[in-house]
Formats: sequence, structure tokens, C-alpha cells
Amino acid sequence: MDHDYDLIVIGAGSGGVRAARVAATYGAHVAIVEQDRIGGTCVIRGCVPKKLFVYASRFSEMFDVAESFGWAVDASFDWPTLVANKDKEIARLEAAYVAGLEGAGVEIIRDRAIVTDPHRIRLVNAGRELSARYLLIATGGHPRLPNLPGRELAITSNDAFDLGQLPRSILIYGGGYIACEFATIFAGLGVETTIAYRGDRILRGFDEDLRIGLDAGFEARGVRRIYETSIRSLSRQRDDVLVSFSDEVEAPFGAVMFATGRTPNTRGLGIAEIGVELHASGAIKVDKYSQTTVPSIYAVGDVTGRAELTPVAIREGSYVAETLFNNNPMAVDHSQIGTAVFAEPEVGTIGLTEAEAATHGDIDVYIARFRPMINTLSNRAERMTLKLVTQAGTGRVLGVHILGPGAAELIQMVAIAVGMGATKSDLDRTMAMHPTAGEELVTFKAPTYVYRGGARQ
Ligand SMILES: Cc1cc2nc3c(=O)[nH]c(=O)nc-3n(C[C@H](O)[C@H](O)[C@H](O)COP(=O)(O)OP(=O)(O)OC[C@H]3O[C@@H](n4cnc5c(N)ncnc54)[C@H](O)[C@@H]3O)c2cc1C
Repeated sequence: MDHDYDLIVIGAGSGGVRAARVAATYGAHVAIVEQDRIGGTCVIRGCVPKKLFVYASRFSEMFDVAESFGWAVDASFDWPTLVANKDKEIARLEAAYVAGLEGAGVEIIRDRAIVTDPHRIRLVNAGRELSARYLLIATGGHPRLPNLPGRELAITSNDAFDLGQLPRSILIYGGGYIACEFATIFAGLGVETTIAYRGDRILRGFDEDLRIGLDAGFEARGVRRIYETSIRSLSRQRDDVLVSFSDEVEAPFGAVMFATGRTPNTRGLGIAEIGVELHASGAIKVDKYSQTTVPSIYAVGDVTGRAELTPVAIREGSYVAETLFNNNPMAVDHSQIGTAVFAEPEVGTIGLTEAEAATHGDIDVYIARFRPMINTLSNRAERMTLKLVTQAGTGRVLGVHILGPGAAELIQMVAIAVGMGATKSDLDRTMAMHPTAGEELVTFKAPTYVYRGGARQ
């Protein structure tokens, strides 16, 4: 049967753009449909603007330390300048994405798509239908809002990048990495910042030493944390938002931001109606080749709820193109994914946490805690943590967890060794580089403690 295209991709974010470009370079006739800006969450309202804002927020720390190195700094900050420069950079990146797609021969269609059968979509605005041998759903996700009175008064990460002005104070509701990163941004830019979270501590699922360390880092920077508390309702109080908490306390904040998770964009897409199975969360069920339960329809990225990270979406997208158009079926390995939290202090992590590893058998745990050299001339007492979790006997590295300056960059490199199955003796053989923080990872002597038979000794 003849189709208009070999592949129609819905969503021009990290996963969709990569799949479309790679498929086109293999000679496929490809269209990509996007209802908003090209680049998706990561480029327009995620990783990129977030990291730029984290950089902006970190200057305040650098100015603090600068004095101990002899500098006198008289600094001021202008929010509109940051927002305008961020917008310029995003426009540049968006143009590069468009050029990349067009250069590969992908047709860009700016519209909203709805799937009407296993090979067809309808363009909502243009009102016409298009068909393809394969459809790829790469529609990402959106911030999930808790269902509580006054929720329309809160902002989400989508809005935070374009506020007209910085609020005097902000309450961030949530304890995941997005909450922690925005707490870092706002606090670093001088906004009185509070985190409210239902759990007992931020960063659930991360190694305990990272959770405790970041919590202490927030304490040192004046970021308040209110744990085991939820929000009951929001209401307007003059220029502020009045927050009513589950413990009966009420308090006004200049702004309230919800960072309470993300929901896959599958509602109204027409896919459930034609037999594409979804998880209870709304995410699309896929096999290891990202194929859905309808054989001509594939799905990648956040909409599949596997690991909601840009490099994962990109890898999944390019492997779908390999599988479908290069006669080379490839399945993404989701087992060893390094992640970072661009908070202050920064978090980088790969592999099993200490608690997870301890349930798998005997392990050795090595921990280095020290003042990063940049703090040694000032009275800043904050310490950096490097933690190595290895399998007893084999010495196989099961997890590496870092808190402090450069943690993300360090983990990116360590991830290569961990992925190759590195052991403690491989690290020991590696010559240290001095003076660095990372040298601690290759100079550990005896374990700090061990687990034998499930018990910590
Ligand atoms: C604040 C924030 C910070 C983040 N920071 C990081 C980070 O530091 N590192 C990292 O790895 N990840 C980060 N992420 C996650 C990362 O942005 C996502 O994992 C990634 O963008 C997922 O890519 P995707 O292709 O699945 O979807 P998206 O990038 O979300 O793209 C989906 C696209 O589909 C479009 N679309 C949806 N429905 C339709 C339709 N029916 N028709 C047409 N178009 C449609 C949307 O408009 C969107 O452009 C962050 C996310 C957020 C929110």
C-alpha cells in the first residue's frame, strides 16, 4: 500500500528530532509534526534554560568566595537581562534544530497531530490527513498539577523561565530534581526560597548520603525545607499567594511553584482508541525496540515513561531509525544511566545506591569527605562527598555517588568505566591527577565500612 511518508514523527523534541534526522539520512521520506516550537522540552523549557539559569545563580556563591582570594566584588543582578539572553540562545538552538532537520530532508509540519488509524494522522489546524508506513509518537510530557483549590495561582517550570520579575519569596512544592534545581536557582538569585515536600527528605531514590548532603547544603544556603507536609489550598492575598498547609499553618509567598512530577502527553492523541496500550500512568507501553502494541506505531522519550532524560530520548529515537530504516534492530540499554542534579551543591550519580547494593549481596563502601580546595581560603565549611560502592570479593564498581563542585562532569566520565565493568583495582591502577577532587576516587585505601550477610560492619 502506498503511503505519503515512510515515517511520520509526532513531536519535535529530543527523541523525535533525532529519529527523524537519522531516518532521513537512511533515505526514508520523513515528516515531523510539531504543535509548538522545534526543540521540545529540553531546548525550550527544560535542560538548556535550566542550566543557563543555574549558571546565573552560581555567581552569588563565586562572589562570596572571591573575597578570600583578594577580590572585592560589587555585584548586582538584572533578571530581564538573563531572560532576554536566554531567549536569544534558545532561538539560536531552535534555528539549528530546524536547519538540521531540513538539511537532512525532513519535512517540518507545524500543527497538532491526532492519530486516526495505525498508519494515519489528522492535522488538527490544517484539517487534512496524512499516512505513513510507520508512526513515531514522541510527544513528551507536561507538568502534573496537584488537584487542590487555587492551583491556578501556582506556576510550573514552564512559567518559571519567563517571569516578568523575580518574586520576593517562593515556595517550591515537590522534592525531585526539578524542585531542587529551581530552589538552587531562585535562592542563588536572592529569592527567599522554601521547599515543601510530602516525603521525609528531598531526592527520593537517590543515595542517602546525597540526599542528606544536599539537604544540608540547602540549610547552609538558607533554603528552608518543610517535610512531610502537603499543600491544602492556595488563595490570593494582595500580591502574594497564601498557602494553607496540611499541618494547619498558613503562610504567604511571592510565588508558588509546583514541581510535582510530569504526565505523559497521550490524552487526546487518539492512540488508546486504536489499540495502543498505555500504562496506568498514561505512558505508552513499548517493547525493547520502542514498538507499541500496534506494530506500525513506535514511541520514544518521556511519553514512554522509561527514563525521562534527554540523552535517553535521543538514543531511543536514533535506535528506532536504525531498526526501521537501516535493517539493524537495536535496543537501548536502560540499566546504567548516570544522572545529575544541577543543584548547589551539585549531585552526580550512577549505578546502585548503597541501600540497593546491600540487598544484592556483600559490598564494600568507600567514602571521602573533604573541603573542596576552592573553599579552603574562606570560612566556608561545606564538604564534598565522593562515595564508591563495590561488590565484595570481585571489587566490581556497583555505584558512584558524588556531591559537590563538578559532580555531574565527574560522573559523566566515571560512567564509561562503570559501563565497562570497572573494578576497584582498575581504579587503583589509575594514576591520580593532583590537585583534583576526582583523584579521591582512585586513591581509596580501606573501605569506610562493609556489609556482610546484609549487616553493616
Ligand atoms: C525543567 C526541566 C529540566 C530538565 N532538565 C534536564 C536535564 O538537565 N537533563 C536531562 O537529560 N533531561 C532534563 N529534562 C528532561 C528532558 O527535557 C526530557 O526528558 C526530554 O525533553 C524528553 O524528550 P521527548 O522527545 O520525549 O519530549 P519533548 O522534548 O517534551 O518533546 C515533545 C514535543 O512534542 C510536541 N507535541 C506533543 N503533543 C503533540 C501533538 N499531538 N502534535 C504535535 N506535537 C506535539 C510538544 O510540543 C513537544 O515539543 C528536564 C525537563 C524539565 C521539565
